[in-house]
Amino acid sequence: MSDAEFVQIERRRNFTEDEFWQMIIALDARKWTNLLPPQLPLEDLPTKRTKSFVTPPDAPIPDCLTCGACCTFLFVVGVTATDDAPPENIWNVTDESGETIIDSYLQRDAETLFCTALETTADGKTPCGIYERRPQTCRKFEAGSDKCHALRRIYGFEPFLTVDEMLAAQQILKMKESNAISPDTIRDAKIVRQAETENFEIVAEMQNGVKKTIHAFDPQRESWRQFQFSGATFADVRRMFESENATEIDSVLS
Ligand code: SF4
Ligand code: SF4
Repeated sequence: MSDAEFVQIERRRNFTEDEFWQMIIALDARKWTNLLPPQLPLEDLPTKRTKSFVTPPDAPIPDCLTCGACCTFLFVVGVTATDDAPPENIWNVTDESGETIIDSYLQRDAETLFCTALETTADGKTPCGIYERRPQTCRKFEAGSDKCHALRRIYGFEPFLTVDEMLAAQQILKMKESNAISPDTIRDAKIVRQAETENFEIVAEMQNGVKKTIHAFDPQRESWRQFQFSGATFADVRRMFESENATEIDSVLS
């Protein structure tokens, strides 16, 4: 994807799923040009300090105001329908009709590829320009977690792990992989229009490939995003909907 093509895309608000993921794949290939290699698989590292296994518990917590590594690196930052992020900072993914939003993500800047809400100041600070309105996904990403430190190493803000530290972390990762993920965990979720009505269904794809309907809803009354359900267990999500307190979804899915 050329820079000119990306500038055109950045001005749009809505995409189909195909268009969105093709764009993200192209952007992801571009962003690595000036970055250092990740020493550990980023997708396997926790974003909560309490779940960290590489970072010592007493390690100092880095200062976000002079960093911004996660805001520049993570391209697919989900925004829920209940988040208050400004519309001009959001890309929406629609269903095939182009009318119903099934996913929303923070928009990227055409020049830097950073989150469009990230500001840079003359004194080298990188404040979030929508701090009070940043989505839950950003609020849950903890400074000082394993993933935070890994991203900072990629940007050269912190030294690489030593070989011993890296081997020890890889050993722990292997042990985690051997603890099989529960078959009740949702691998992916899709929001699909029901054939006979104007309603939608949230359909979960489970670890073994089996598809199960999580919930059916009227899009005039409820609004969900596909990304919210991946990684949660089917039982927890069903319990949440049955409790008729769907506002608790963030605690169920965190
Ligand atoms: S959470 Fe970590 S990576 Fe993100 S801005 Fe703060 S210190 Fe940097
Ligand atoms: S909304 Fe703010 S905290 Fe979230 S990625 Fe963008 S700049 Fe960072």
